[in-house]
Amino acid sequence: MTFPEELIGLLGEATVLVAAYDPGDRLRFANAAFREAFFLAPQETPLWADLMRRNHGMGRGTVIRNPDFDAWLTSTLSRRGKSGFRAFETDLADGRWLWMTETVRSDGWMLCVASDITSLKADERSVRQDRDLAIRAAYTDELTGVANRRFVVEQIEKLIGDARRSGDAIGCVALCDIDHFKAVNDRFGHVVGDLMLKDFAKRMQDQLRRSDSFGRVGGEEFVLVLPGTPLGIAEMIMERLLAVARQARPIPGLPDAGYTFSAGLAEVLPHDDAEHIIRRADDALYQAKLSGRNRVRVYTPPLPPAVNG
Ligand code: GH3
Ligand code: MG
Ligand code: MG
Repeated sequence: MTFPEELIGLLGEATVLVAAYDPGDRLRFANAAFREAFFLAPQETPLWADLMRRNHGMGRGTVIRNPDFDAWLTSTLSRRGKSGFRAFETDLADGRWLWMTETVRSDGWMLCVASDITSLKADERSVRQDRDLAIRAAYTDELTGVANRRFVVEQIEKLIGDARRSGDAIGCVALCDIDHFKAVNDRFGHVVGDLMLKDFAKRMQDQLRRSDSFGRVGGEEFVLVLPGTPLGIAEMIMERLLAVARQARPIPGLPDAGYTFSAGLAEVLPHDDAEHIIRRADDALYQAKLSGRNRVRVYTPPLPPAVNG
């Protein structure tokens, strides 16, 4: 028997749960233990979000404490499966408790390995879960549920680390700011303004790849991190997001209550730091606002001063 076959055979008998997701977050491999815990038929390869939604609807699989499944999903997606390694504990509806690890390669493939730790002491378990919840809260924007400034800045720092190792520019960062938001608040009230911010965050998050990071960094300002994305593609992505925002009418009964945003785009360079990138994106954002809003502008370095004589 060849080595991969041995490995697949071993995984089939293992009590640890093993799964692999592709960069689009579709399940591509799951061993029997994983399939049993998450109610998957033998050949099924659903998207992660669809699997979670289905199990939640049937009261099985991962326990989700937030009564609003979509809000939970938006929030979880904003932090799920970025590059590197993550470990956390999770409980299943059948009472089992899992120690779950996620390893994400730079091309976006994710290996998920979980072991059953139900027999560990319950009191220590709840302390650890409190710690996990505290970490999650420290990286989450309270109003919109998406990531916050701390999270996106860490993602930018990771991207710079990758750029430094490869020597190339390997991603882009966009700063997005909702247009005339003060006027929106003045016209419709702060409560509607808040609903718009939530709607905007969810709509943008829904458009992004798992490897992208999107977070709220200020009142009506958001940062988007696009790893492995050349400038030309990033511009196309921004155009698509601008179009999605233009269509939004989030408040039933208020057909006039829409919004647009402006964006500044900057490329990540090998010797950057997060502050410099955000500053360049902010310069470009200023240009987008100046040239009429509801558009994206790419950062261009200032021309060197003309030499006289
Ligand atoms: P511009 O197109 O130049 O960005 O104009 P603007 O009105 O969006 O920009 P400005 O910076 O003047 O005002 C931002 C406004 O965003 C001010 C404040 O009323 C509103 N805002 C900031 N944070 C929140 C929030 O959490 N909820 C609500 N409802 N409004 C907020
Ligand atoms: Mg602003
Ligand atoms: Mg604004």
